[in-house]
Amino acid sequence: MVIVGGGFGGLRLAQKLADAPVQVVMVDRNNYHNFQPLLYQVATGALEADSIAYPIRKIFAGQNNFFYRMADVKGIVPATNTVQTSVGDIRYDYLVLATGSLTNFFGIESIEKNAMQIKSIPNALNLRSFIFQNFEQALLETDPEKRQALLNIVVVGGGPTGVEISGSLAEMRRHVLPKDYPELDLKKMQIFLVEAGPALLGPMSKASQEDAKRYMDGLDVIVRLNTAIKRFEDGRAYYSDTEFIPTENLIWAAGVNGAAVPGLPDELVTRNKRINVNMWNQLPGQPNIFAIGDVANMVTPDMPKGLPMLAPVAQQQADLLAENLPRIIRGEAPKEFSYLNKGVMAIISRNKAVVDMPKDIHFKGFLGWLAWLFIHLILLVGFRNKVVALVDWAFSYFSSDQALRLIIRPFSRKDMKDDKGKRAAEHATATVQYNPTPPAIQEPAGQPTPAS
Ligand SMILES: Cc1cc2nc3c(=O)[nH]c(=O)nc-3n(C[C@H](O)[C@H](O)[C@H](O)COP(=O)(O)OP(=O)(O)OC[C@H]3O[C@@H](n4cnc5c(N)ncnc54)[C@H](O)[C@@H]3O)c2cc1C
Repeated sequence: MVIVGGGFGGLRLAQKLADAPVQVVMVDRNNYHNFQPLLYQVATGALEADSIAYPIRKIFAGQNNFFYRMADVKGIVPATNTVQTSVGDIRYDYLVLATGSLTNFFGIESIEKNAMQIKSIPNALNLRSFIFQNFEQALLETDPEKRQALLNIVVVGGGPTGVEISGSLAEMRRHVLPKDYPELDLKKMQIFLVEAGPALLGPMSKASQEDAKRYMDGLDVIVRLNTAIKRFEDGRAYYSDTEFIPTENLIWAAGVNGAAVPGLPDELVTRNKRINVNMWNQLPGQPNIFAIGDVANMVTPDMPKGLPMLAPVAQQQADLLAENLPRIIRGEAPKEFSYLNKGVMAIISRNKAVVDMPKDIHFKGFLGWLAWLFIHLILLVGFRNKVVALVDWAFSYFSSDQALRLIIRPFSRKDMKDDKGKRAAEHATATVQYNPTPPAIQEPAGQPTPAS
């Protein structure tokens, strides 16, 4: 069985298959699992990158049916049960796509080219460097308009990621930057949170939306609702043909697409690049291919646009698929998925968070913040990571300081593009060698009919 992606879904599935009669081959372009909900804390220097990532090989040390290959998956060929990767082809009996999502720039080229995104650890480290590089440059800049653009930060997208990063930047402006940059007039540093819709935290309750807005106002974050950024170039983020916010740093948190892998029939891939699946995550018409997590488009009567792209959805789908796969292999009928919503939350700043629980329960403030802290600590993979995160958070909380503001790897937009090209070329010369004698598994028989 080949699992593409070692994120929340792929990781959980491979763990749950530890005792199943299958050889599990996981392919991921990174050799670590990345805890995405805390990326913004790496970007703002609150946590070190190593404390939100964990090596895939270490997670599976001792799981005898598990094999890992570090590779980019380029495509799949369902007709020959083949995954094409940057290190060679891999054959499968069963394939699970757990490739997550990618930033959606809505086809706006100037934004794709110039904006910062926050989907991966390299993205977060680039952003951290870029923020501090801009401050160093602002100290030297004599042109007031250019200096203002270096100081301003525009966050686009008022969902949880946009709100969390804006809050964290505002705390940094209040507590950290005045100590490091006494020569700069930080009252001039403006943080804008721009949202195309009428409210922050669109999918959350009205109470959470209003609390979030109030918290943002208290942190002096300038919230612009019903506003869309249409273009970003030459230090200007345009929200109409002529009106703009001067900024060199635009953080794009406005949308994601599924990370569908090429090679599937067109009718299985939605407009936003998610893959249609039935109620047990199987692709219609492809009995031995499954998709879980962000990349899977599972439509339910109460979620006609598909289940939300959230870590618990990916994990719950992985749990059920781990139960269903042995059933499907034995030719038995699989169970249907039902999403258990345990609640959603967003942290705004110290002592401030909003939480929506099922049955319309809403809480906020210190209690919400404590709940957020506790849950994220539990969910982090690895004991060392939990300890390091706890120490970093305690340090920040009691000292109102953030230890991590080194520009170790200066960021330039040009380098980022060159680096991508170089990495792909390196991968292409490697060879693949995986266990040639997998344990025998039965042929799929009596496949259930996929739902439409
Ligand atoms: C900044 C941020 C904050 C978030 N905050 C929250 C939150 O607070 N709560 C919450 O529930 N959810 C949150 N999410 C969403 C959550 O992280 C996702 O829903 C979850 O990660 C989905 O899990 P997944 O397994 O589908 O994909 P992912 O966890 O994204 O894993 C996908 C894996 O596939 C690999 N991969 C992808 N394509 C390829 C390829 N072609 N070849 C090889 N490998 C590939 C990737 O390297 C990655 O390891 C957040 C996301 C982001 C970006």
